[in-house]
Order: sequence, then C-alpha cells, then structure tokens
Amino acid sequence: MADLNHLLQQNREWAARTISEDPDFFARLAKIQDPKYLWIGCSDSRVPANQITGMEPGEVFVHRNVANVVVPTDLNCLSTIQFAVDLLQVEHIIVCGHYGCGGIQTTLDGRRIGLADNWLRHVGDVMDKHQQRLNMLDSSQRASALCELNVIEQALNVCQSTVMQDAWQRGQPVQVHSWIYALKDGRLKALNNGIASAAQAAEEYRQAVEMCWSRYEK
Ligand SMILES: [Zn+2]
Repeated sequence: MADLNHLLQQNREWAARTISEDPDFFARLAKIQDPKYLWIGCSDSRVPANQITGMEPGEVFVHRNVANVVVPTDLNCLSTIQFAVDLLQVEHIIVCGHYGCGGIQTTLDGRRIGLADNWLRHVGDVMDKHQQRLNMLDSSQRASALCELNVIEQALNVCQSTVMQDAWQRGQPVQVHSWIYALKDGRLKALNNGIASAAQAAEEYRQAVEMCWSRYEK
C-alpha cells in the first residue's frame, strides 16, 4: 500500500484542483452520465482515450482490450457497446488502434506469449485475410498496415453486432468510426468517414481497406 501513496496523493491534488476550477464539477457528474462517444481502444498505457482527445471525465465511455479487438463472442465488449448504445445513447463509436501495437507485432512475428495468444488469434484472422498483400510490404510497413486493417475489421465487427443492427433498424443516429493513433507524434487519423447505417457498412469497409493499401503499396 505504502508504495501507492503517491497515486492517492496525486488524486487528492487533482480533485482539489478540479473543484477549485469548477466547484460543481463532481456534484454535476455524480447525478448523470451523458457521454456522446464510446471509445473501443487498445489497453496500451500510452493511448488513454480522454487525454489524447482532450475530453474530461463524463465525456467518453471507454472499453479497452489488447489490440482493440471486437468479436461477437466477447460478452464484455458487447455488453459495453449495448450499454453505450441503448442506455447512454452515444452518437459515435470510435474504434481506435495505434501504430507500434505490441499485440499486432506479436501476431505478425508468430511469437508465443501465453494465454493472450488465444485472444490475438482474432488479429491473426485479420492478418490471414490480407496475407497476400501484406507479404508484399517490408516489415515496418506491414506492421503499420496491419494496425490499420485491424481497426477497420474491428469497426466492421461493431457494425455487424446485433446491438448496432437493431439500433440502425430503429433509426437511432449512431456512427462507427475507425481511427488510428501515432505514438511518435500523438496524432490521431481517421481511416473512414464514419459508418451511419447497416447498408453503408460493406462499402465503407471496402473503401477504408483500399485507402489503407494506397498508403502502403507502391
Ligand atoms: Zn496496442
């Protein structure tokens, strides 16, 4: 416990500073949660949703896992999406990956790391799907391309979830975005225009994949 005291101290200082700048801040947030965004990102400690988008507590609902994977058998991720869409009525779902992702690199290298190999098998599926074109790239380009392709695929998985299909069916305005973050300069980049309906998903997916190849294939 003792070695965590600095974190508790930093929390006391943050809470005091926040109240001094906005005396009602916590009272207001304690009453209601009303975020417009759901963030599905990588667990990587260098990609914190709030900080890199300049959002305050209360502004973004967050789900993170290794390599920002969305699969229809993951009750954790699906429940987060359902809670965000049905109850919080978020307007945007942002699937955000990042260049230099350890999960992506491990998959590319075919390296065994333990239990997480089973989770990263989902990234392996993305790699296999695009294997032929990935093989044509040099190793660093291949890693960056797979980071992008993985985001684009996982965003499509969000679109194909029953939660999103039902939301769009009843006319709920919610868009699904594919973004990627660069550790080297802190910049985010959009990989699609935002998918706003089930009908758009396949074409937006196709365009995002082609845009990705256009950045890497010479
Ligand atoms: Zn990562």
